[in-house]
Amino acid sequence: MSVQPIRLFGDPVLTTPAEQVSTFDKELRVLVKDLTETMLDAPGAGLAAPQIGVSLRVFTYDVDGVIGHLVNPVIGVKSDEEQDGDEGCLSFPGLAFPTPRHMRVVANGFNMHGDPVTVEGSELLARCIQHEVDHLDGILFIDRMSPEQRKLAMKAIREAEWSGLSEPVVKISPHATRGLAV
Ligand SMILES: [Zn+2]
Repeated sequence: MSVQPIRLFGDPVLTTPAEQVSTFDKELRVLVKDLTETMLDAPGAGLAAPQIGVSLRVFTYDVDGVIGHLVNPVIGVKSDEEQDGDEGCLSFPGLAFPTPRHMRVVANGFNMHGDPVTVEGSELLARCIQHEVDHLDGILFIDRMSPEQRKLAMKAIREAEWSGLSEPVVKISPHATRGLAV
């Protein structure tokens, strides 16, 4: 199995800009395979290499039945139109928040063999491409939210079971408080 553990919010690799891929070798093909298998196992609509701890500019996607990957992507916006649906992230398990994105984007890059590839999409695919390219720049979806939405999201993140940010909760039984002398 090549399914890798997914790094969670709080891991510094997620906020570090990833390096360009310079060699299209066997190691890169193994990375694309690991990303694809980890994404399908999760399951998720996309996965970026930093999310499995590899700081390289590679992501995979699985949208509308099409599985693909892109190396060294450069993103462009196709129209001014925006979308504002719920968005989740495998590095923030179980959470989704309204996140504004462009409606249509195009991404130019390469496949794992070094051939030029263009991926163009709208709606979910466009959202996925923007989310994954952001990961490669060390940007997370909470950085794309309105300040009010981000505040709500951070509260939910702090309260999430997996969150390293959450303070240990000291639970006191309601019966114990009655006899408490302080
Ligand atoms: Zn993500």
